[in-house]
Amino acid sequence: MHHLLEKVYQTNDLTKEEIIYLLENITQADREILYNNALKTKQMYYGNKVYLRGLIEFSNICRQDCLYCGIRVSNAKVERYRLTPEEILACCDQAYKLGYQTFVLQSGEDPWYTDKILVELVQKIKKTYPEVAITLSIGERGVETYQALFACGADRFLMRHETASKELYETLHPTMRFEDRRACLNTLKGIGYQVGAGFMVGLPGQTLANLAEDLGYLMDLRPDMIGIGPFIPHSETPLGMEKCGTLEDTLVMVALTRLLIPGGLIPATTALGTLHPEGRELALKAGANVVMPIITPTSVRKQYALYENKICGDDHPEDCRYCIERRIQSVGFEVDLGRGDSLQFKSGKPK
Ligand code: SAH
Repeated sequence: MHHLLEKVYQTNDLTKEEIIYLLENITQADREILYNNALKTKQMYYGNKVYLRGLIEFSNICRQDCLYCGIRVSNAKVERYRLTPEEILACCDQAYKLGYQTFVLQSGEDPWYTDKILVELVQKIKKTYPEVAITLSIGERGVETYQALFACGADRFLMRHETASKELYETLHPTMRFEDRRACLNTLKGIGYQVGAGFMVGLPGQTLANLAEDLGYLMDLRPDMIGIGPFIPHSETPLGMEKCGTLEDTLVMVALTRLLIPGGLIPATTALGTLHPEGRELALKAGANVVMPIITPTSVRKQYALYENKICGDDHPEDCRYCIERRIQSVGFEVDLGRGDSLQFKSGKPK
């Protein structure tokens, strides 16, 4: 085992078989070594800095029916909301005043936001805040839509691959196709977006071999951002009675991701903060270097319940901004309010 921990730290590489062996045999003492090596690797690439992204969850209306997700179309119990472009712009204004230089616009797959509406929105945001990076996380759309949004100024796109196992993917996503998701990620990369992929840990039916495939897929795709969070059940979904992913398994995957994709931007996710009160701090100590505080208006944020007991439901954007700053400092890191572009993006194709 020690030679694998050493190998991944020194070479940023492991085979799928080696990853499986490591996941099957890891002990608590090994985990400590892994987290420390991931932290040192993060520090080598990014120093002590942690980037902040303001997250606006602008619609919980979704046409998809993902088995794990609380805002799936079949959940008739969610109270649905959709922010108007004016309301989204007001969130951006608040985000800007709180110092954010990246706005992440996330939603369910809501066709009300046509290409025209989205393009106008991105144009307005870019015109008002030219130095700010815009990240979209709106799910699957056509190539032309992605091109139009990039052309008018969107910089980044988050679309987790969710799981690299075709079989598991298709069980969990009755309305979606495994190949389509991957094609979208390739298209987005080809257009020139900084791309974020990622997966959930502890999905019902997920094996250690599946998790090794997730890492293998990331090593092939080389995304700029990688979001990893535990699966957390939502009672109004078919997986409501299943168990959560664990803190330790998620931290191991965060640390391995840092070692295998050393220049990646890896968030300490809200789902980890929901699973454990110090989940995000522990992720920062295991190689994560981004936090995405929520800036969704307090009046609707509880309705964006992808899973249950999501934290910060009663908070205001300024609460999250300063709570996160305190948490980052509490584990010895510094907030960086810059755009925080990925290193591979900066070195490759500046925009
Ligand atoms: N519609 C967008 C945004 C999805 S929501 C898209 O398709 O990309 C953002 C992420 O939340 C998802 O990619 C998924 O990985 C995560 N998520 C959804 N339900 C979850 C649950 N029950 N537990 C943990 N994470 C969940």
